Amino acid sequence: MTNEIVHWVGEELRGSSDRWADVTNPASGKVTGKVALADEADAQTVIAAAAAAAPGWAGTSLARRTQVVFAFRELLAARKDELAALITAEHGKVHSDALGEIARGLEVVEFACGMSHLLKGGYTEGASTGVDVHSKRVPLGVVGIISPFNFPAMVPMWFFPVAIAAGNAVVLKPSEKDPSSALWMARLWKEAGLPDGVFTVLQGDKTAVDAVLTSPEVASISFVGSTPIAQYVYETASKHGKRVQALGGAKNHMLVLPDADLDLVADSAVNAGFGSAGERCMAISVVVAVDPVGDDLVARIAERARTIRVGDGARGAHDTEVDMGPLVTRAHRDKVASFVESGEKAGAKVVLDGRDVAAEGGQDGFWLGPTLFDHVTPDMEVYTEEIFGPVLSVVRVASYEEGLALINANRYGNGTAIFTNDGGAARRFEADVEVGMIGVNVPIPVPVAYYSFGGWKQSLFGDSHAHGTEGVHFFTRGKVVTSRWIDPANRPAGGLELGFPRND
Ligand code: NAD
Repeated sequence: MTNEIVHWVGEELRGSSDRWADVTNPASGKVTGKVALADEADAQTVIAAAAAAAPGWAGTSLARRTQVVFAFRELLAARKDELAALITAEHGKVHSDALGEIARGLEVVEFACGMSHLLKGGYTEGASTGVDVHSKRVPLGVVGIISPFNFPAMVPMWFFPVAIAAGNAVVLKPSEKDPSSALWMARLWKEAGLPDGVFTVLQGDKTAVDAVLTSPEVASISFVGSTPIAQYVYETASKHGKRVQALGGAKNHMLVLPDADLDLVADSAVNAGFGSAGERCMAISVVVAVDPVGDDLVARIAERARTIRVGDGARGAHDTEVDMGPLVTRAHRDKVASFVESGEKAGAKVVLDGRDVAAEGGQDGFWLGPTLFDHVTPDMEVYTEEIFGPVLSVVRVASYEEGLALINANRYGNGTAIFTNDGGAARRFEADVEVGMIGVNVPIPVPVAYYSFGGWKQSLFGDSHAHGTEGVHFFTRGKVVTSRWIDPANRPAGGLELGFPRND
């Protein structure tokens, strides 16, 4: 029987569309299911279910809402292996890495368990004579979340725990490449006691996305994906009056100063460059080596990268049999391989070529091994484009200033890292670099849940980053109430007064 991956409105919804897309296991290359691609009517059914549930959930006490979020947290923590296996089967990343993504998502769920504190407003007694003022934050209603393939659990969890705890109803449109995690989490919400319709899943492609972006029922859009689509989402949803945060692509640089601990740098570059086969928005894709460390550093990176075992991510479950899984689809694997060809043709030195990798897995898997380029220059395609695969480029520069200028000239500004033992240099970098998330001797500086995640420039369209207090603000609107209760013993004179209200 075919594994049909459908929509969710508190129960499975097959929908009326006759469009479906194959879902594959990237390690075997085999089709493991088919996902529903919503038509306009399916999208409206899912959005309507969320819209019907939103007022009741917004009116549910914070205590009750928090209990449900807490129950979701407990269930997820207890059953994370199940979800990790699902992620590995559709995305390809090794099991331990899938568990890592769930752990980072769980942090946001835990953050959202503190929503009653985060939503506390201000109160001023006697702001004017006999007048009190208080502020509060109220939910938006129905919020849309559109997520990419590379973190099918964590990226949705950057948003939905905060949105739900704050009293909103969610329509999640996951990537059609690995759509099962969203459904799995939907079932978990139901088990946690969330009322039907507060967390819905709309499966599909552009048709589904466009329906969410233009629906008058949807108040906000949280998007994560590639830059061209992020820009399209931002423009379309803004035009339809929505609040939008659209996180886009990245090209993250690691600046290595000559005084850095080169073993630590090499370990970090390999882990951050090839972890999850480079399919991370915070992956390091360019190492900027300040003279004279280049030769030594490239040798150390290559030595480590050669030991990476590529294979079926399911084998990375309880031991370290496999370090790196396949790429998500054959088309993506071939696109990344074409960048390797392009770098070679452009004259970059191929230190390690991942195209001839021997993988421990099915012959038809979407394999590409770690690839290391040296002497990459900023005009090469391998430098200018986001590759989103296991391809690490080393660019040589003569000075800190040259490295900084290179990073700041890049159109992306998601993450960056500096490796040095010089605190003054690190401090200067932190001030000078035009990037949203910065690591000092930390290669993947993903902020903890109570800070906010987001880049600059073409890595983010909109103003609000994900989770943390920015996330709470994004999913709520402010109200300020100015009230006067008449003290019967001290009644004001009253009478006509058409002048602007005085504050005294
Ligand atoms: P993608 O842009 O192809 O897809 C993202 C979402 O948009 C998916 O749900 C997809 O169905 C939908 N979509 C695709 N084409 C569309 C179209 N023409 N119109 C409307 N919707 C469309 O991205 P992806 O390949 O799934 O994910 C990889 C990208 O995501 C990379 O560029 C990566 O850098 C980026 N990413 C960024 C961050 C971040 O925090 N900035 C985090 C994770 C991933």
